[in-house]
Amino acid sequence: MATHPELVSGEELERELGALLDVERFEPSAEFRERALLKDPAIYEEAERDPEAWWAKQAGELHWFRRWDRVLDDSNPPFYRWFTGGQLNVSYNCLDRHVEAGRGGRVAFHWRGEEGEEREITYAQLLEEVQRAANALKGLGVRPGDVVGIYLPMIPEVVVAMLACARIGAPHNVVFGGFSAEAVRERMEFSEAKVLITVDGAARKGRTTPVKDRVDEVMGDLTTLQRIVVVRSKGVPCGMRAGRDVYYDEIVEAAAAVCPPEPLDAEHPLYILYTSGSTAKPKGILHTTGGYLTGVAATHRYVFDLKPESDVYWCAADVGWVTGHSYIVYGPLANGATSVMWEGAPDYPNRGVWWENIERYHVSILYCAPTAIRACVKWGAEWPNGHDLSSLRLLGTVGEPINPKAWLWYHKVIGHERCPIVDTWWQTETGAIMITPLPGITATKPGSATQPFPGVKAEVYNERGEGVRDTQGLLVLRRPWPSMLRTLYKEQERFLAGYFERFGRETYLVGDAARLDEDGYFWVIGRVDDVVNVSGHRLSTAEVESAIVAHPEVAEAAVIGQHDEDTGQAIVAFVTLQGDLEGGESEREGIRATVAERIGKFARPKRIIWADDLPKTRSGKIMRRLLRDIAEGRELGDVTTLRDPVVMDQLEQRVKELQAQET
Ligand code: ATP
Ligand code: MG
Repeated sequence: MATHPELVSGEELERELGALLDVERFEPSAEFRERALLKDPAIYEEAERDPEAWWAKQAGELHWFRRWDRVLDDSNPPFYRWFTGGQLNVSYNCLDRHVEAGRGGRVAFHWRGEEGEEREITYAQLLEEVQRAANALKGLGVRPGDVVGIYLPMIPEVVVAMLACARIGAPHNVVFGGFSAEAVRERMEFSEAKVLITVDGAARKGRTTPVKDRVDEVMGDLTTLQRIVVVRSKGVPCGMRAGRDVYYDEIVEAAAAVCPPEPLDAEHPLYILYTSGSTAKPKGILHTTGGYLTGVAATHRYVFDLKPESDVYWCAADVGWVTGHSYIVYGPLANGATSVMWEGAPDYPNRGVWWENIERYHVSILYCAPTAIRACVKWGAEWPNGHDLSSLRLLGTVGEPINPKAWLWYHKVIGHERCPIVDTWWQTETGAIMITPLPGITATKPGSATQPFPGVKAEVYNERGEGVRDTQGLLVLRRPWPSMLRTLYKEQERFLAGYFERFGRETYLVGDAARLDEDGYFWVIGRVDDVVNVSGHRLSTAEVESAIVAHPEVAEAAVIGQHDEDTGQAIVAFVTLQGDLEGGESEREGIRATVAERIGKFARPKRIIWADDLPKTRSGKIMRRLLRDIAEGRELGDVTTLRDPVVMDQLEQRVKELQAQET
């Protein structure tokens, strides 16, 4: 069934996308605006006049056991404290209050497994399971402040485990299920986790792999880890060490059904989470309770224009990343949303499975990463075109800059030109979305995250710390916000040096390069070190990549600067073509011509290397620092977060071949 036949033809689609590349702005439709939660731009002025009052109003939407005495304690920057004196419980906010208000029968998650299995979990059921799990953790000796590790795939138990920890004040440390057991051990050791919750085995594209046994291989002698809880998910047999290991279902079933939520100070730690490691060794970000929940609930409601009674929301990230923490678990549940949770990959059992899920559950809001959109572009429009996507009304992206062409593809092929796109910029450190359109207010420009969320103050600085426009600079946040990181776990010095040294202790240095355009729109270009200087022209890698991707045969590109005798730096592009196309000299010339046309001759890549795939973090972000290492012939930096090491071997080989040809 082709529900969108006019887009089936590849060439026609290319032509239409090409024409749209010159459209500067996309306004929300009158219909969308009419029904939006926020439609009056005066909201920005309101927040700007008194940011503390604005955030206090957002915090007031939550349930507090004790109201705060002070909104913001800024007496010792950058150690800001929010809602001091206040007490609340995150799991109470995410569960009990909805059930108490008579919404216990609402579906919290439509869970779907790889093989099509389904589980529907209501708020009332989730509350019951969380209370039992919380009691079970208490029974294992977990006390407020004890760290609990969680290493689980995308199964409902991961949400239960997180909320159970939050209920009893035990900060969790979730490790993405795609990481190796060694990475888990390192994080458990560093955070001195007392308990680890893991699984017998996990499904990945039709294969079941053992998890618990792998964990055992590396965890044996770690004395700080006292208990391991095993969820029986796939029926994979595993060894259980007496006195240490217990099955999740057994202890949960045996536990009492009622566990009153612990009233916790607003600044009580909620979790530790490691960043994805695109730039350097991962950092353990610490988030606390009151400010974090305030930030994620408010942004989730307004950025996604959430109507919890009617929307079906799907954040297609993994719960092991901050996007999953803030926008699969805490934001949506605090707002009483109905979500979809998908266990598997976007291409199993076939490349249309995401669109099948959208049709099946009538998803109205989809939030995903540019890396997924680029993969879909490569696979072709016929996959989404085979499904009814008419339930969608809003689309979002996060994680990397999105090339205008991928944005337009998303807008046209998925959104059918009807759905606003919110390109949300934020970080593990910021906890919640910081720069984003408000879908009923903002006219969007493809590739721009547009404007700071109300109450957030962002600027672009030059090297001297002066605000600049229309030129590339350093993105900074000039005012504390409730969901900000409180420190780097056990690395206070790194926290201060990394974020609050360059421009003083009251200005947060983001680490990303950005440009503010004449309309006050932010263009986050990438990491500060993703900037290339060719014959004195400062270029962003993202800009050159976007131009390369505008070439009709290109699916994905990564650009780096390589030392060059003549020009200081020369541009090297690693390029993946669409479908199964093979690249040769004529494609190279075509790409150079496209770049010359879109940016200028000086930006043409000196070298173009064909890549079947690019090195990416396990969260799907391109790791340009590794490409720089191979281009310069250096030893590779930290590769612990690299998803697929084979990719690097191929690229190293191709770089060597090209260099041999040149000499
Ligand atoms: P590490 O800090 O270890 O290198 P990471 O920065 O990739 O890892 P995250 O905190 O998950 O880990 O990612 C945040 C970064 O992702 C931002 O600093 C920015 O570079 C990029 N990013 C996120 N959203 C956007 C967006 N909408 N547009 C452009 N870049 C984005
Ligand atoms: Mg980062």
